[in-house]
Amino acid sequence: MPKNSKNIKIMADLLKQGATLTEHACPACSSPIFKLRSGDLWCASCKKRVIIVRAGEPEPEVTEAPVFSSLESTILGKIQEIEKQFVEETDAEKLKTLGATLLTLLENLEKIRNMKK
Ligand SMILES: [Zn+2]
Repeated sequence: MPKNSKNIKIMADLLKQGATLTEHACPACSSPIFKLRSGDLWCASCKKRVIIVRAGEPEPEVTEAPVFSSLESTILGKIQEIEKQFVEETDAEKLKTLGATLLTLLENLEKIRNMKK
């Protein structure tokens, strides 16, 4: 779906603007949530500000398959590594490569999160 790749582009633009990826998933669509420079949490798919309610303890995720969970955290870890490199990299060619890797990882993350639903 072209809608999905459009979202990925928006996510990449957010990163370029200094937003950072958080470990949260959008409660409405499961997309990764970004933290904007302003401190607001933002869902690129819903194009909405997201309020994460912290109850003081992690949400119970009883129906979650463990394999998805570990895959998700692996990908999330990789995304955060690449994101750091992306922010520090100034070489245009390397940025292109890092950007492409980042997008692939984000796509995979979104797929895994959709599978969990
Ligand atoms: Zn959303």
